[in-house]
Amino acid sequence: MSSFPVSEAVKRMRPSATLAAMQAAADLRESGADVIDLSVGEPDFDTPQHIKNYAIEALQQGVTKYTPTPGLKSLQKGIQSFYEREFNAHFEPNQIIATSGGKQAIFNAVCAAANPDDEVLLHKPYWVSFPEIVNFTGAKIVTIDTEETGFVLNAEQVKRAITDKTKLIIINSPGNPSGRVIPGAEFRKIVEACAEKNVFIVADECYARFVYPPHEVFSTAMLPKELQQFVCIAGTFSKTFAMTGWRVGYTVANAEWTKAMNKLQSHSTTHPTSFAQAACAEALENWEETRKSLDEMIEEYARRRAYLIPALREICSFQCSEPEGAFYAFPDVRGYLNGKIKTSADFSDLLLREAHVVTTDGAGFGVSGYIRISYATKFERLKEAVERIKNVIGNLT
Ligand code: GLU
Repeated sequence: MSSFPVSEAVKRMRPSATLAAMQAAADLRESGADVIDLSVGEPDFDTPQHIKNYAIEALQQGVTKYTPTPGLKSLQKGIQSFYEREFNAHFEPNQIIATSGGKQAIFNAVCAAANPDDEVLLHKPYWVSFPEIVNFTGAKIVTIDTEETGFVLNAEQVKRAITDKTKLIIINSPGNPSGRVIPGAEFRKIVEACAEKNVFIVADECYARFVYPPHEVFSTAMLPKELQQFVCIAGTFSKTFAMTGWRVGYTVANAEWTKAMNKLQSHSTTHPTSFAQAACAEALENWEETRKSLDEMIEEYARRRAYLIPALREICSFQCSEPEGAFYAFPDVRGYLNGKIKTSADFSDLLLREAHVVTTDGAGFGVSGYIRISYATKFERLKEAVERIKNVIGNLT
């Protein structure tokens, strides 16, 4: 057969850099190497046992059939109560859809809103899938450089980027890969600036719970209704409850946006797996137990962060801005680039080859010269990785 005529929409996409890095780690491991994978943003914790039990019970009770497209009523109710309890925000069930992971939530939100003539704003560094999802719609990507503000987006930067064609902005805070957090008051100013120009916001809040003191958890759900109606929240159970493989996420948006996303989802995945939804609903219903597991995980992430950031700064003289949230460090490695190691991709490759430590090159996040290090990895392995990085760097100088 001659070359396959791939659609223009898919031709415009690049493969996921994070998943490619994860695959590189798996391949190297298969060859027998002792690999430390700091690439993918996947909690090393297992799903809490009580949530697994809920799924087993659901299976035994025959929750194995189709569910409504926006998800089980019990899950919609669970998400509704979660926002009421945690953020004092009320949403109706017709504003909530369960999706197959946070990625589908963002895909739904963008595809239901963007046209080829529209401009969609992304703040750099962005999560690798944002530009590709926008590319799929044919809309024009307009990026906002935030290096001057230490990768923290502010309202002035957004105002400068908005044109008559701007339809959407995707905002991710705590940010992947930077770990930076947009303070709540600034976030509000950004939403006000957007609302004034009729620009809608996809708020990727997948890491909303992962914020380290003294910084505080913020959700756009906390904004007044007249601002909130411009926002589609994309959330996920993957990171918060260590459930990456379960593929359950959700959107919370105005009823019209939700109706459009529901139509789109009815022709793609229909809904996430029925018994995974049932387990998530129970996890939210039995919140005290679930929160206990979550608190334990966050405490451990905080411990790793407290070790990793100074360690990177000290041993590697990395310029590393303070990640207030998520579970990533995003050091600037430009100080190590030279004739042989020209780019951060080369640097990341060097760590892979010489230290069997897998990281993700910043280029996939729109910011070359940096690498992303995920600390969703056991403490001892993290320490070992730092030692190995130190040795590689020592041989460079
Ligand atoms: N979101 C995670 C990451 O950035 C998981 C991989 C992915 O879906 O991109 O590593």
